Amino acid sequence: MQLTNRSKLVVNKQMTFWERIYLPAILKGMATTLKHMIRLTFGKSNTLRYPEVTKEFAPVYRGWHVLKRDAQGRENCTACGLCAVACPAEAITMVAEERQKGEEHLYREEKYAAVYEINMLRCIFCGLCEEACPKEAIFLTDRIVPSDYVRQDFVFGKDMLVEKMDQRIDITVRQMQVKERVAAKVAQ
Ligand code: SF4
Ligand code: SF4
Repeated sequence: MQLTNRSKLVVNKQMTFWERIYLPAILKGMATTLKHMIRLTFGKSNTLRYPEVTKEFAPVYRGWHVLKRDAQGRENCTACGLCAVACPAEAITMVAEERQKGEEHLYREEKYAAVYEINMLRCIFCGLCEEACPKEAIFLTDRIVPSDYVRQDFVFGKDMLVEKMDQRIDITVRQMQVKERVAAKVAQ
């Protein structure tokens, strides 16, 4: 029984002389190659000369995470583990510690993540960790995770995730764009 009308009857017919010498097929293939070469050389190309030229990212692009600090420079994360629970790829691991006396300038909450790791090879950049976080501690940014040859180097610890005080990462513009897009979608 035919499910569609796209099926073709296969005929095991003898090849003609021109088919047997392959020359017309080779010339046809070369003509196609030449056509594309001319189009790419003289016509409009979609190829960018990376890395000199980079493509503009969508405002909602989700890349390398950041663990934020508050205005006083204290780490926002309280090691509650909600991001790890929400993560569908089980990419997040952490070790919680109690904040000690005298460490109030380092950690905002009484509990903090002594170890916080994201395995970037497991991560699917879904953003669920960002949504699950009650402390506005973790955000995805538009930074690209750099390539590497060693698997272990893709396990990003706090040194790669917590923002540096002299290189604060502003996520407000991105957050605003995301909210605007969501609002526009809801209004549709
Ligand atoms: S972006 Fe998604 S997959 Fe990656 S760490 Fe967050 S929750 Fe896990
Ligand atoms: S990043 Fe947020 S959700 Fe994850 S452990 Fe820290 S405070 Fe909790």
